[in-house]
Order: sequence, then C-alpha cells, then structure tokens
Amino acid sequence: MTPQYCHKCGTLTDSPVLVDEVHAASGPGRNIYACPAHAARVPAALTPAGALADALRRGRSG
Ligand SMILES: [Zn+2]
Repeated sequence: MTPQYCHKCGTLTDSPVLVDEVHAASGPGRNIYACPAHAARVPAALTPAGALADALRRGRSG
C-alpha cells in the first residue's frame, strides 16, 4: 500500500487507514487517511471498514 499522511498528526504511515472520502464538485475528489493510532478516533462510519469497526466497538461496550 502506498504510504499516506495521517490527517490528524501528519505522520507519513506505511499502514494508512482510509477514514473518509471528499467528493469535489469537479475532479475525482480525494481520500482522507489516518495512521493506525488515529484511525479509530475519527468518525469513519462512511467507510465499510469504519462501519465494521464502529459496530464492533458498540457491540463490545454494550
Ligand atoms: Zn495520526
């Protein structure tokens, strides 16, 4: 996977997690990535992986 910068801390990470997508009015838009440390701390319900993680968290905490 291509290293990406975390949108939270700006660290270039080899294991970026896609947390959001920005759709521009014109152009392809872009993806927002976070490092593993921050990936679980941002709203990510828009992504399949984020939704799954969110479901797991809710299930665990009750
Ligand atoms: Zn980070």
